[in-house]
Amino acid sequence: MEIKEELKAYGIKSTKQREAILEILKSSHLPLTINQIRDRLDIEMDLSTIYRVLDVFEAKGIITKTVPLEPAQSVYDYQRHIHKHHLICTQCGKILVIEGCPLHDYEEKVAKNTNYIIQRHQLEIYGICPECQSKL
Ligand SMILES: [Zn+2]
Ligand SMILES: [Zn+2]
Repeated sequence: MEIKEELKAYGIKSTKQREAILEILKSSHLPLTINQIRDRLDIEMDLSTIYRVLDVFEAKGIITKTVPLEPAQSVYDYQRHIHKHHLICTQCGKILVIEGCPLHDYEEKVAKNTNYIIQRHQLEIYGICPECQSKL
């Protein structure tokens, strides 16, 4: 879908800034930090402007925001409607996306035991990537 049309479909007014940021998030297969987004922009934008755009996107559900325990920077991900988990290196902060989920049975069990309607879950796995292991 065209970026402009996609923004419209989510009820977001199209601006140059919003189009540029969505383009970057869509073309990245890894979640990005705000600094990585800024580095990829070819138009001048300060961090507070980028934050505001990301807040709007998150509120409208066009992206998801993940706040890792460590490193402290949040990452932003285009909402591809694929359920996935993140594997985060605690040394360099690199984030891999893991597709597939082992928690469906567990969710059903929790629903049964608590009478909740389970809507979603989020899971981040932390570790040390092979490159960082070689530097230990
Ligand atoms: Zn690493
Ligand atoms: Zn899952």
